This record gives sequence, C-alpha cells and structure tokens, in this order.
Amino acid sequence: AQLDTLDIAVLVALLLGTIAYFTKGTYWAVQKDPYATSFANGSAGKAGKSRNILEQMDESGKNCVVFYGSQTGTAEDYASRLAKEGSSRFGLKTMTADLEDFDYDNLDQFPEDKVAMFVLATYGEGEPTDNAVEFYEFLGGDDPSFSEKSSGEDEKPLSTLKYVGFGLGNNTYEHYNSMVRNVSKYLDRLGATRIGEAGEGDDGAGTMEEDFLSWKEPMWAALASTMNLEEREAVYEPVYELTERDDLDIEDDTVYLGEPNKNHLEGHSKGPYNAHNPYIAPIASSKEIFNDATRNCLHMEIDISGSGLSYTTGDHIAVWPTNAGKEVDRFMNILALSEKRHSVIAVKGLDATAKVPFPSPTTYDAVVRYHMEICAPVSRQFVAQLAQFSPNDEIKAEMAKIGNDKDVFSHQVAENNFNLAQFLEYMSNGAAWTKIPFSIFIEALHKIQPRYYSISSSSLVQKDKISITAIVESLAKPGAPNVVKGVTTNYLLALKQKQHGDPHPDPHGLNYAIVGPRNKYDGIHVPVHVRHSNFKLPSDPSKPIIMVGPGTGVAPFRGFVQERAQQAREGDDVGRTMLFFGCRNKSEDFLYEDEWKQYTEDMDGKFELVTAFSRDGPEKVYVQHKLKERADEINKLLMQKAYFYVCGDAANMAREVNEILGQIISEKRGVSKQKAEEIVKAMRASNQYQEDVW
Ligand code: FAD
Repeated sequence: AQLDTLDIAVLVALLLGTIAYFTKGTYWAVQKDPYATSFANGSAGKAGKSRNILEQMDESGKNCVVFYGSQTGTAEDYASRLAKEGSSRFGLKTMTADLEDFDYDNLDQFPEDKVAMFVLATYGEGEPTDNAVEFYEFLGGDDPSFSEKSSGEDEKPLSTLKYVGFGLGNNTYEHYNSMVRNVSKYLDRLGATRIGEAGEGDDGAGTMEEDFLSWKEPMWAALASTMNLEEREAVYEPVYELTERDDLDIEDDTVYLGEPNKNHLEGHSKGPYNAHNPYIAPIASSKEIFNDATRNCLHMEIDISGSGLSYTTGDHIAVWPTNAGKEVDRFMNILALSEKRHSVIAVKGLDATAKVPFPSPTTYDAVVRYHMEICAPVSRQFVAQLAQFSPNDEIKAEMAKIGNDKDVFSHQVAENNFNLAQFLEYMSNGAAWTKIPFSIFIEALHKIQPRYYSISSSSLVQKDKISITAIVESLAKPGAPNVVKGVTTNYLLALKQKQHGDPHPDPHGLNYAIVGPRNKYDGIHVPVHVRHSNFKLPSDPSKPIIMVGPGTGVAPFRGFVQERAQQAREGDDVGRTMLFFGCRNKSEDFLYEDEWKQYTEDMDGKFELVTAFSRDGPEKVYVQHKLKERADEINKLLMQKAYFYVCGDAANMAREVNEILGQIISEKRGVSKQKAEEIVKAMRASNQYQEDVW
C-alpha cells in the first residue's frame, strides 16, 4: 500500500509526539520543527478542537487563562470563580481551561502581557488529577530533578510566563498539596514569574473555602500591580445565555430531560462507558444490612453483564445521582421557577470559551434535578455575589454582611447546614427571589458529581456483578434545624425501597424521579461507571495480608476475602489473611457477620476476623486498640512481607493506624521512632502499605 501525504503527516506528527513525550520539557531545548505545531493541533486533540492555548486566547481576545486540574469539580469551580472575578473586578479577559484539553510545548511563547492561573487539586497519594496527568508529566512529573536537567543550567524557557497558583489538598495526606507545590517549583525553575504566593487550601482542616478567600485578595492586589489593572465596582455579567424555546416542548425528542449525553437521548446508549458516559445498570438485588432503626446501610448488586464494563477486585464504582424531588421543588419555589420548570430552554456560552456543563436544549427541571449540586453547602463568596439580587434592601444589607464576614457566615449559614434554597428561604422568610439570573447558578453551583464506592465483591467470584456497601448519609449537627440527607445514598435507598415493592418510595420524605428521564431508568436501574484503582491484592495469593477496615471501610475487604476464599476452594495456597473490623455494636452494625464465618471455613483457618465494638462494653474499643493488642503477630507478618491495607475514614482512623504501625515497628524491632516511620514510608512507596480512604 502506498502512503499518501496525509499518512506521512500523521506518522511524522506521531513520531514528534513520541519524542515530545519521552523528552518532556526538553522539547523546548530541541530545535523547533515545523511539524511541531501540527502535533500540537492534531491527532491527540478532541476532534476539530485546537489544542493550542495561545491560538485560542488570541482568537477569543483573552489575556488570562485559568487552567484547572480537577477530579471532583471543586478545582474547576474555583477556576471559574477566579475567571469570573478577574473579569468583573479587573476587566481581565478571562477563560477557564481543562488541563487535558491543551498541549504545553508552546508555553515558552506565552505573551508577557498575559497571565496563566493554575488551580490544581492533589489527588490520593500526591498524584495529579486524571485531567492533569499529561501536563504534570510534561513539566517533570515525579522526577524533581527533571526540569533542571531539561532546561539546562542557565536556560529559562518560560521567562515570559506570568502565573498564579492555587492548590486544593488535604493535610491528612502525606503529600499535602504536592501538585501546586511541585508545579510552582518546576515553573519557577524554568524561569516563569509567580504572582503572589501559591495558595494552599486544606480540605482536611475543613478550611478550603476560607483558605481560598483569604489567598485571593493579596493575589489580586499583586496581579493588579504587575499588570497595571484597575479595580472597578464588580458588575455581574452572565456567562451563559438562556433562551426560552417556546417552539419546543418536553415531548420533543431533541430536548434533554436529564439524559447525560446524545447517545442516551437518542435511546441507544452505547459504550465505552466512562466518566462522561454512564451505563444505566440494572440493580440485581438490594438489601439493608444494619439492624438499626436510626441508620441505614445498603448492600446492592449492580449487574454489568453485557455492558462491556469490567472491574478487578479493589476498584471503585461511580454512581451518578439524581437530586431529591423535595429539594428540586424547594429550589424551584424559592426562585419562582415552579411554573416554568418544564419549559424548554436553550443554554449557550456568551463567549466561545464558556462550556455549558450540561446538554441543551433542556428544561429548568432537568438542569436542577440531574446536573447541579443544589444540596451542597453554600459558599460565602456566593452569598456576597447574590446580595445584589435580594428581594429588598434590608435582605441585601444582611446578605452583604454575611458574605463579607467569616464569623457571621459561619454562625448563620455553615452551622445551620443550609443548602442554597434553604438559605434563601431563611433569608427572605420564604418570599420568592425573582431577580437572580439563572446563569449565575450554572456558574456558581457545582456540576453534580458521581460518588465513588469501593467495590465490595471479588471479580474472580462474580465478574458481572458489582457489590456496593454504602451507609446512607444523614448528618444532624447539634442545634442545626436541618438534617443533611446525602444526595446519592438516599437515592440508592429509594431504589432499594422500590425494588422491595414501594412504587413511590420517599425515604425521609425525599422523593425521586426514580424512573429517570423519559422512564429510561425504570425497572430499578442506576447510572454508573467503573474507575480502576491501585488498591490491589498481591498477585501471589500465598503472601500474607493484614486489612484494617472499620465501618464501611470493610467494603473492599469483603471483596479481598471473597477472592481469597475462592482461591482456597480452588486449591491455591492462600496466605494468612487478617481483617480488623470495627463498629458500634455486635447486634446492630456488624457488617457481613454471617459471611465471615463461611470464609473462615473455606480458608481452613487462614482467615481471621478481629473485631472491635465501640459501644458494647464499658470502654470504647476501636480497631486501633486491637492492632496494638496484636502487635507481635503484625510485626512478624510484616517481616514476612505481608501487605498492609487500610480503608475508610481518612481524617482520623487512617492517620492513627499509620502512627500505630510506626509504634509497633519501633517497639518490636527495637528501632527508633524515626527509623520506624521511615520503614512505614518505604512500605508505602513499595505498595506494601496501601490505602483506600475518603
Ligand atoms: P452528599 O450529599 O455528598 O453529602 C456528604 C456529606 O457532605 C454530608 O454528610 C455532609 O457532611 C456534607 N454536606 C452535604 N451537604 C451539606 C450541607 N448542605 N451542609 C453541610 N454539610 C453538607 N461510602 C460508602 O458508604 N461506602 C464505600 O465503600 C465508599 N467508598 C468510597 C471510595 C472512595 C474512593 C471515595 C472517594 C468515597 C467513598 N465513599 C464510600 C463515600 C461516598 O463516595 C459518598 O461520599 C458518600 O456515600 C456520601 O454521598 P452522598 O451523595 O449520599 O452524600
């Protein structure tokens, strides 16, 4: 076969791409090639969309790009807020940009009169978010010496780049905010100029929002002075335009009523199923597994046969939620949208760079029910922003006060656990807010996020059925009028109730559009996708393992033990398998009590369940205590290279277990505390110690 010009161009582009990949930023040092831009614009990009950020900024007249590395949507949200504020307060021409949508080999030509902002979440053990992997690798990834080498001693390829950085992290993790720290380090080394401090928000301390608010003011001052920007009275400029489409109605088959994308709208949903395209999975069975009148815990079996989805033991399943009807109604009522909730609207970005976060044309109802996180806590900045649309001057003054004072906000909003509509109701005594432009909600509220669950089955035992073990969220703060009901878990509870015969389930008074858009989820279906994880059993089943999983932290370990029991039944030599499980009491929330007995038999004594019941005796006993009691054996197993796993609560339990392991090693091996900590770190680095925490 002959190669035509196009083939050759593609091959050259691929070759250059490979070179660029393997040499990472050294690309700047190698001689520029005319085909370089063809790579930048070409094969790797989404069809027809330029991956050249400089070109896009030029074409759309922007002088400020806010890149985001986001996993759950928070970093993306902060990026939009920065873009918005830069435009309304300082007249910057801003755009936001998903890090994975662009190439970075021309950052060395970033114009001096423009600025790039980076809002970067750190994920898991100091990793970049999925959409930031390529960008991070390009700059140097986890090789800290890389950008030094690549740019050469004196070379400063990014000397024209001005940048601003903010990180989202969690101080309970060892690599706290490592993304923003490393990216800043790399950019500085490559000669870029940082404006202001690189900010760090801490989810672990629960101060993310306040960290962001207190970081951005000095940053704006520094940026205004560097770029000679003049601050002006912030005026609200909508980012999206809504057109009421009277020519269409909800019967029309081009109107999205909550379908996640075109495939689903057209009724022939097809794979591959992933974070952009959920599989509408049948729930094969569901039940409650607590014996407790006040709390619910669900066990569900999700059928993925025939979907092309697959999983391996230790992976996560993502569930795409639907907001509760009660909260959708509240939102509609307080904004006086109830009457037109089923009117068809077309939504488009007023600017070519503004992405509409849901498909259009659609309806108010569909947007609010399926696409917006309307139940989440309210942000202080949003309260300040909404003040101007208050029903009257008195409320306006009160809104401004709450929005501008951290303590007043904390007392009146955060401590009351309000979601947005509840807060607006509270402020106006239930009177409707009619002046708020709908665009502001699309801008300020998060896009609804799928929630992850650690798969609690083994793929060896049931490859086509995924088990979930989920506790139904219900958060009552003392003194707060409002009990927060988790969005996804109450939806799952409703699905369980429907499966057990209730045609209109309404757990806790919440009701759901349980059959989904156009009845597409009828017959007990839930939209899901699978995310692969690194939380894995050793490939050699004879290796001993120690698992620590209190509460629903036991989920993946049910899968692990199921797998090892199966291997034992098949005659494999299965190593010692210890599981530390804790809960309140034996009679109420002892998860999978009967199954463990069976696994002990199957594994011929190799499996041991060590339990800690915190409320059964005079003293509170937790898994941490049990680990200490079994220190001798744990140390011995670790010396035999046992894998050590922790799953569940990140904030307290996982950190304490980490400390206790250090203590055990120090005591039993007679080494200093510091040395023991190093050993634990090395275990983590070599994957002998793995965490699945949230
Ligand atoms: P949400 O609506 O998301 O609410 C969650 C919490 O946010 C509330 O309890 C409250 O603290 C806070 N909140 C929400 N709204 C407000 C408000 N208006 N005011 C104040 N506070 C508010 N969970 C399991 O049960 N089992 C698992 O196996 C499991 N595995 C996981 C694995 C991973 C990798 C991750 C990241 C999480 C996992 N989770 C698991 C947690 C799960 O993803 C969900 O976070 C959890 O089920 C709650 O979801 P929800 O939508 O019901 O609650």
